[in-house]
Amino acid sequence: MMSFRSWRWVAAWLQALVIIGLPFVRIHGQSALRFDVPSLRFYFFGSSFWISEAYFFLLILLLFFIGVMLVTVLYGRIWCGWACPQTTLSDFARLIDNFSRFMAGRGRKALSFMLSQAFLLIFSCFVAATLIWYFVTPYDMISEAFAFSLGPWTFGTWLFFSVLIYLNLAFVRQKFCAFVCPYARLQSTFFDEKTLTISFDPSREDECRGCEACVEACPAGIDIRAGLQVECINCAQCIDACAEKVKRFEKRSLIGYVFGLGREKDQQVSRPRVVWLSLVFALMAVLFVYQIAARVPLDFWVSNETMRMAGRDTSPGKLINRFSLRVENRSLKPATYKLRVSGLRDAELLMSANPFIIPADSSEDLSVYIVLKKQYSEKETAALWFTLEDVHNPELRITRETRFVLPLKKNNHR
Ligand code: SF4
Ligand code: SF4
Repeated sequence: MMSFRSWRWVAAWLQALVIIGLPFVRIHGQSALRFDVPSLRFYFFGSSFWISEAYFFLLILLLFFIGVMLVTVLYGRIWCGWACPQTTLSDFARLIDNFSRFMAGRGRKALSFMLSQAFLLIFSCFVAATLIWYFVTPYDMISEAFAFSLGPWTFGTWLFFSVLIYLNLAFVRQKFCAFVCPYARLQSTFFDEKTLTISFDPSREDECRGCEACVEACPAGIDIRAGLQVECINCAQCIDACAEKVKRFEKRSLIGYVFGLGREKDQQVSRPRVVWLSLVFALMAVLFVYQIAARVPLDFWVSNETMRMAGRDTSPGKLINRFSLRVENRSLKPATYKLRVSGLRDAELLMSANPFIIPADSSEDLSVYIVLKKQYSEKETAALWFTLEDVHNPELRITRETRFVLPLKKNNHR
């Protein structure tokens, strides 16, 4: 049977593969997952979310946090042991230590230390670059780095995070989990008497050989026999270490994953906290899916420029109002739009081209004119609606209301 350590390495390499590989994946020419700082766009698996749609980003964060809370109530610190980047990076740092010792040879501690620090520094630069790829595309960053033309912000951020990650891996590692990580502090709030934990089986205390292999194997430096502790990251190395020690006596590990007090009935999941969190999570997930499905990747704003102009009533026989439109194509493909006007009889729409094309993921400012036959009105303005429609996808349509400026009737006319 594969040890927990082997399974955790499988999880760590899969995690590395996904985190490193994802920035290279492109959908419709854009990163699968990236927040572009200059344009404030969030690219999410084929969609481009603009800053005015930040609620999508908040929904994703909320879903993530509620999901982590739910998993914590059920499975304790499974995240810490199997998915947390800090744990994974610390595991890779230990792998680098072992490799450096192997390279240096026996008894050459100074050389082993220097090799390990050099490898850790290179590794930290790579990890920092991976982090930046979620903000700057790896294609741009790699080509600019080789051409020595990285921008000062990109280079400065890369340098800063490389040093930070190096210091973390060289001097902090699992101490971060015990002394800094807020999740480690909060987890006891989510735990209940039925949560999955790694525990020493007190009913088999007399079988313990007192070999301390579990303590030596623990990256957090704790003795799990003393009970659940905040430093424990659920890495399961103590389970493997004990299993190795007691297997010669044909016994199974005295330490293991246990739901609550280890009794069968404690494994039930339907307790109030789980039900409430599951409901909130399901509701948020439905809301998120609905928002994605109902999202219109198109928007526009209109403002009447004539309102700000003096001498509005100047053209003989005609009334002309000028409008400014900002049209946003939030899809990752070029789109052809047609503009229509309604609400005013015989209104004529004048613009340079209609339909018109807006390139993918960009916006354009347009000037349009509405022309009416000369007429006078009781009111100074009349309602007018612009409708913008995607020519190839007519259900993508938005209507905005604005006002048309009219001259007042003679008796009101100043
Ligand atoms: S007690 Fe066991 S599971 Fe907890 S951190 Fe130490 S080795 Fe990992
Ligand atoms: S490894 Fe197992 S047998 Fe050895 S001290 Fe720890 S719990 Fe006891």
